[in-house]
Amino acid sequence: MSWTTISQQPRVVELLYHSLRNDRLAHAYLFAGPRGAGKKQVALHLAKSLFCTEKEADACGACITCRRIDAGNHPDVLVISPDGASIKIDQIRNLQKEMAMRAVESFHKVYIIEHVDKMTTQAANSLLKFLEEPPAGVVALLLTENSHAMLPTILSRCQIIHFSPLSPEVIARKLGEEGIPGGAARVVSHITSNLEEARVLSQAEWFAQLRNLMIQLVQECKQHNSSVLYTIHDMLQKSDKIKEELPLFLDLLILWLRDILYVQVDRHAHLINSDQQDVLQGQALLWTKAELLRGIDLVMETKNRIERNANPQLALERLVLQIQEG
Ligand SMILES: [Zn+2]
Repeated sequence: MSWTTISQQPRVVELLYHSLRNDRLAHAYLFAGPRGAGKKQVALHLAKSLFCTEKEADACGACITCRRIDAGNHPDVLVISPDGASIKIDQIRNLQKEMAMRAVESFHKVYIIEHVDKMTTQAANSLLKFLEEPPAGVVALLLTENSHAMLPTILSRCQIIHFSPLSPEVIARKLGEEGIPGGAARVVSHITSNLEEARVLSQAEWFAQLRNLMIQLVQECKQHNSSVLYTIHDMLQKSDKIKEELPLFLDLLILWLRDILYVQVDRHAHLINSDQQDVLQGQALLWTKAELLRGIDLVMETKNRIERNANPQLALERLVLQIQEG
């Protein structure tokens, strides 16, 4: 592991690496950006880079120091996250005590606070005072998905670094590098911008099953018989997971209908379900363009309805009947 392998946030990496090399790190950073954008990974890598015994301004990830930081037991690196719903004043007091102690193994000490927007008012005030008079050598890395919820006085004492959501291309490439097949990688990369979530989905048995059921449902939908209603009944009875994940099922369905459109207009390079070209090709003959566009609208409507607590089975049956009516 090195800065060059953290490829998903190139601007952030360049800025931090440059500051490290020139010994110009700020004493406090706020990493702001959505879940799964790599904030914690970058924060830990920055901490390792300050202590790693093998590399200059970078981290090897393999030496004892790097491994202790990864395992959360390096004496000069403290990671704090909400205790229950919030970060409490005792946690910040404890942090100040730890940071006031002399560094054990070098000049630096680092603390990372996850979900820093979830501090109680007292905790925030206490941290603010600490940020105003930072002890020498201490680096604060504050992580948030919600910088709008933070006190302006805290923001003004940090260098703010924005993490952008990962693009589907980046996620699909990363998963591809890890050996996940292209079709599955592309599908999950359009479902979530959270790399970790995408990785879990792409390997989950139930997710593969959900995708197969979706394909089967579309197939039966166009056969104009009532077997499709049994299929729905069956799949919802058999698995609570599928019932829970119905919005995801509908997202998959939208991607699938879009792919049929792409096949019809000969844009094969745009296909997301790129491992299902033959099936898509066959289904493309059964739909008109207008039906597909209407279908996508209906699926989105159904998704809204389910999010507003409609009965999943009824909503899905209604969707299928509407699609079949054409
Ligand atoms: Zn190392």
